[in-house]
Amino acid sequence: MKGKVILMGAGPGDIGLLTLKGMEAIKQADVVIYDRLVGEEILKLIPKQAEIIDAGKRSSNHKIPQCEINKILLEKALEGKNVLRLKGGDPFLFGRGGEELELLKKHNVDFEVIPGITSALAVPAYAGIPVTHRDFASSVHIVTGHRKNNEPADINFKSCVLWGGTLVFLMGISNIEYIMSGLISNGMRKNTPCAVVENGTTPKQRKIIASISEISDLCEKEGIKSPAVIVVGEVCSLSGDFDWFNNRPLKGKRIVVTRPEDRKGNISERFRNLGAEVIEYPCIKTISLIDEELFEDISKKIKVYDVIVFTSPAGVKLVFDEFFKRKIDGRFFFGKKIAVIGSATGNELKRYGLFYDFMPKIYSGKNLGKTLVLQGKKIKVLLLRAREGSDDIINELKKGDIEFNDTAVYYTEYVNGRGFELENRIINGEVDYVTFTSVSTVKAFVSSVCGGYDKFKGVCIGEKTNMEAVKYGIRTIVSENAVIEDIVSAVVSEVGRHE
Ligand code: SAH
Repeated sequence: MKGKVILMGAGPGDIGLLTLKGMEAIKQADVVIYDRLVGEEILKLIPKQAEIIDAGKRSSNHKIPQCEINKILLEKALEGKNVLRLKGGDPFLFGRGGEELELLKKHNVDFEVIPGITSALAVPAYAGIPVTHRDFASSVHIVTGHRKNNEPADINFKSCVLWGGTLVFLMGISNIEYIMSGLISNGMRKNTPCAVVENGTTPKQRKIIASISEISDLCEKEGIKSPAVIVVGEVCSLSGDFDWFNNRPLKGKRIVVTRPEDRKGNISERFRNLGAEVIEYPCIKTISLIDEELFEDISKKIKVYDVIVFTSPAGVKLVFDEFFKRKIDGRFFFGKKIAVIGSATGNELKRYGLFYDFMPKIYSGKNLGKTLVLQGKKIKVLLLRAREGSDDIINELKKGDIEFNDTAVYYTEYVNGRGFELENRIINGEVDYVTFTSVSTVKAFVSSVCGGYDKFKGVCIGEKTNMEAVKYGIRTIVSENAVIEDIVSAVVSEVGRHE
């Protein structure tokens, strides 16, 4: 059976600008052929088993010629694969999307097109420029600064000036001087405002505003490079007032997130939405210890203990997944009390249809131990947690003379070897913050990154994690509670204090 080709636009770079339909298509792909301008975070969504072809690069850094890309699409589809042709922005706007479909049509291969958010409109929006505005421009014209085979653009400057609308030039940076002088010699006012936006919608976005007579020199001086969008028109004068992008609280900050891969999404997304550049560097992985024997053991213990304690969302997930796998649901816990260390663990529990009974006000093992002691000596406590869990809880339980059993249901493993690349970035001062959500993330991080600890600040959850980071000479800020909101607000207030 023949496969199908999906020609899709990935948007201008920001992963948040990927369409829902596009996200689904990425997940279903067997083969992905992508271009230079597709955002890095988007590429990470490609399933591990998919074949990935970088059309912007062959062995010696040369692009794959267009005719060859067309052939690859056809061949892979004829092999019966789901082929995804992934392009920056929108595939039909200066994206050669049309050309790529011709060969498929000729061979009766099925295809679909998923439009993308184009840089022509999104990049100005991220620079605070509405491309139309009833007081300034009632039309917008998208023009290429380059033609096929790199010939100089053949722009009808006269019409551009006569339209009187906003002009958006793509692929125009190497011809910017030619474009501006073409507009001026055809009658456009020399002081018409112009904006050039480089790497739009990404953390590296840069914006330059000047008149059309000055912009070209300024771009050269600032070393502006492709990809960049050029916007010409009165609407550019609004970009200062409407510059929401550069005014976000964490703009320009680089933050390393060390949370395990399956759970980091949320925190990274929050940092990104506040303007930070997030470097994901998962340091630990949780590995289940639950086999048939341990499962039997846990089930028996749950029956005889009164309070079941979970000290991390990972612990909850591992235990309940095992029960669910065996078609045993929350009723198994009938009559039991459940204690959690903090709200994240409590929320994970809720996902399995259960509420907790006990949670300390300030999230720590010690406080959880104290909370349990307050319930009275008669209770029997079962801890289901990491093998390397700290002694804080059990010390409290011992002090309170409470009967308990400490059962390890998982352990954490370090996932990285020596991280030279990150280490260099840190030593060069390219990292502002590193988040540490547990003692083991600190230990795993320092085992991989072996220097530059005085170059960034560690953002630590709780006092224990803080103490571990301080041991290595890391300057720290401590989040009051073990919740993502608090970590994020700790960074925001720290940045605010210094600016
Ligand atoms: N199909 C794409 C455009 C492809 S042409 C789209 O709809 O966006 C490539 C040009 O797009 C670049 O030369 C640049 O002018 C522009 N471009 C794409 N992504 C950009 C980005 N993130 N920032 C600035 N310009 C971008």
